[in-house]
Amino acid sequence: MTTATQTNADLFARAQAAIPGGVNSPVRAFRSVGGTPRFLVSARGPYVTDAEGREYVDLVAGWGPAILGHAHPEVIAAVQEAAARGLSFGASTPVETELAELIEQRVAPIEKLRLVSTGTEATMSAIRLARGFTGRDLLVKFSGHYHGHSDGLLAEAGSGLATFALPGSAGVPAEVAALTLVVPYNDLDALRAVFAEHGDRIAAVITEAAAANMGVVPPLPGFNRALVELAHAHGALVISDEVLTGFRVSKAGWWGLEAETDAAYTPDLVTFGKVVGGGMPVAALGGRAEIMERLAPLGPVYQAGTLSGNPVAVTAGVTTLRLADDAVYARLDEVAALLQREVSAALAAEGVAHVVQTAGNLFSFLFGDAVAGGARDYAGVLAQESWRYPPFFHAMLEAGVSLPPSVFEAWFVTVAHDDAAVSRILDALPAAARAAASA
Ligand code: PMP
Repeated sequence: MTTATQTNADLFARAQAAIPGGVNSPVRAFRSVGGTPRFLVSARGPYVTDAEGREYVDLVAGWGPAILGHAHPEVIAAVQEAAARGLSFGASTPVETELAELIEQRVAPIEKLRLVSTGTEATMSAIRLARGFTGRDLLVKFSGHYHGHSDGLLAEAGSGLATFALPGSAGVPAEVAALTLVVPYNDLDALRAVFAEHGDRIAAVITEAAAANMGVVPPLPGFNRALVELAHAHGALVISDEVLTGFRVSKAGWWGLEAETDAAYTPDLVTFGKVVGGGMPVAALGGRAEIMERLAPLGPVYQAGTLSGNPVAVTAGVTTLRLADDAVYARLDEVAALLQREVSAALAAEGVAHVVQTAGNLFSFLFGDAVAGGARDYAGVLAQESWRYPPFFHAMLEAGVSLPPSVFEAWFVTVAHDDAAVSRILDALPAAARAAASA
């Protein structure tokens, strides 16, 4: 049991002795911002509380899932009730179909859906399925996009990897990495060139529906649509990764934001995670029935999981999605817009050159004059004065606001960010902006 007398520093030291780097996912180690990670013991609404009993307004939201805020009473009640009926059956349950139906109703390109436990599994399985369906081996991904940590996707990625400035990862065989072609984001000419050279060997292009793992970099208008047309012209599939954007930026994810516009597009496969599990380990891949039915037991593409469709986890996801109505998304948009404005004003008041990058209610900041026009790809993101972020981050943390511990991450709002939580954030901004200015 953790008690309030244990300090974060003590807990980190103990964790480092038992766990590599003291963490179970690299970005939590604060490597890019320095200092001691906070060991959290509880979370409620817009707040998280650490082992020392300090409360922070949270803008990480579990890296995305907590659109309703932490520990929403209805979600917790549903989970408790499900848990009391048994934790894991390893057999089919009614609630799995409910989640699949909910997703299929909201996102038209999804005709069939399979549940898995993590975003990594979802993208890994989607890629295997695309290869099995097309009979081709090559995969195209965009530089700075993150799709989890399966071998073929660690050819060059954002998120933790950008932070650590590693080219890929040790342990990935060169032969596996060589099956992935990495192209600059938002660059249709580069994509055309890759298809011109390797078109008949490309199984799929995988893309974040809107990139948010190198900071936020939205697709240029029409990019997703043009990408689908190009891939289809060469017989390749498009896997739209909505693990982060799905059911966060709108009721129908990023696809839903573009569906009613000239940029409407129809991906072949879509991956989900985060919000679909409401904070528990659920992710999914879905798409055209013709493709999805190639999965075992109907087809030859093997995919499975002891914990897939876990009843307690799926209950959290179903309850979260049911509660995420139009009013929730309107409030997320409102809080996001307000924070963008206020952070920007605070930075401007201290003369810190910056750009706000947005994709729906997701946003992040780029620092410095060199990025005045904003960034449209990974090279653009790397051109910023990233050293201004750590002092900004720590000033916010000192004032009781928990931001993502890396400049290469999006900020996440929740519907629970009420006026009290928002004003705590606003109060912390002037000192943080001064810290960024003097970095
Ligand atoms: N795809 C995207 C777009 C993501 O943002 C992430 C996680 N941040 C993943 C895949 C991997 O998901 P997980 O961490 O659940 O494996």
